Amino acid sequence: MADPIDFYTPDPTVRELLATHPNLSLDVLSGLMLDGVPLTAIAEEVGTPCWVISADTLRKRAAQLLGAMKGAGLSVSAHFAVKANGHLAVLKILAESGMGADVVSGGELLRARKAGIPASRIVFSGVGKTDAELRLALEEDIAQINVESAEELEVLSGVAASLGREIDVALRVNPDVDAKTHAKITTGVAGNKFGIPYDEALGLYRQAQALPGLKPVGYAVHIGSQILTMEPYRAAYARIAELVRATRAAGMAVSVVDCGGGLGICYRDEGAGSPQALAGAMRSELGDLDVRLAIEPGRWIAAPAGVLLASVILRKAVTGGEPFIILDAAMNDLLRPSLYDAWHGILPLSAHDAGLAPEAAAIVGPVCESGDMFARNRQLPPLQRGARVALLDAGAYGSVMSSTYNARPLAAEVLVDGDRWSVIRPRQSVESLWASEVMPDGVRVEA
Ligand SMILES: *Cc1c(COP(=O)(O)O)cnc(C)c1O
Repeated sequence: MADPIDFYTPDPTVRELLATHPNLSLDVLSGLMLDGVPLTAIAEEVGTPCWVISADTLRKRAAQLLGAMKGAGLSVSAHFAVKANGHLAVLKILAESGMGADVVSGGELLRARKAGIPASRIVFSGVGKTDAELRLALEEDIAQINVESAEELEVLSGVAASLGREIDVALRVNPDVDAKTHAKITTGVAGNKFGIPYDEALGLYRQAQALPGLKPVGYAVHIGSQILTMEPYRAAYARIAELVRATRAAGMAVSVVDCGGGLGICYRDEGAGSPQALAGAMRSELGDLDVRLAIEPGRWIAAPAGVLLASVILRKAVTGGEPFIILDAAMNDLLRPSLYDAWHGILPLSAHDAGLAPEAAAIVGPVCESGDMFARNRQLPPLQRGARVALLDAGAYGSVMSSTYNARPLAAEVLVDGDRWSVIRPRQSVESLWASEVMPDGVRVEA
């Protein structure tokens, strides 16, 4: 990882994590609170593992991001990246906070519509949209499709023409800029699958003018995720600005630049991406182009709003080494540590536990994979069997990435709103794991 988390700096303490996570607080009696709700109360009633997400945090962060854009004098349409957290309640809260949706599949499109997001506020991104998905987007009459290749442009034109419809199209350009983030979440360098090579974009924009059913309106760029410094954004936006000018010089109209998502958050001690700085980068590079700007934030809005609650199944001692703290949450619930080596803060729910002197421990799940590990050599208060913890910043790329691997039902989800909370997805039943499985004809199964 560039802009790397320096793993040689000591892990943040309980106090330091609380300081970087203002929606969390530690009450002497009630323990760890998310907004006005003691997380222990939720864990006791709903059980663990359990996702908990703060409505207030979603609202505040949406307002903060939109406020930063407005403060910079930019006219921006914001589209929440549904892939970060697609729960209908989350989408609804963000829609009420002024956000549309950025979707990457027909399923996400229908999800956004179901949550009440108007089609006119939905953009469709992604490198491989099926004909059926394109048809759906056209029939729903969404705001814009971001096209990622010459081939897709042809296919989309064919589908649009066959339906007798026209749709606004932005070309997603690969600006060949290194976002200086994890290789698995960088998307804007030459050689990865995303976007149209920069040098081909203008020619393709011209071709798109001539294709039936398409109305090319501008360019889109999304260079990666968990971006903390503005240089990659500036570099990408400067290249897009150059492309807009060249396109106009060639006699074609450009009215939209979609600036993508990717703004990072402070998981450990890396500092957080700043909406003001992002708005500043957009203004300085794109502000005088007279285009409507769009953004597609996901992680920055939702990650800090959520935690994953877990209980310690066992504390497994290791002779001469750090103990394994085996949680009832696992990689099938929160995949990011296994997939991206992601660092998630871990806090005990009990104020007593939180006050103990830390020790080094390996925090793992019970899934039968060595990769099922949340943290290694982590300084944490000693956690005994039955202790409960919260894994922080789990509101984005958390529950959406869950699977039922090892026949582990999907965890419950809870929404906290002020000092009230409610279950927004009950824990999946074990029976439902096989409820839709069908025996082939002629195979007898003893029940
Ligand atoms: C994933 C994605 C986003 C959101 O990225 P974040 O890092 O969560 O802000 C936005 N736009 C596109 C095209 C994406 O693929």
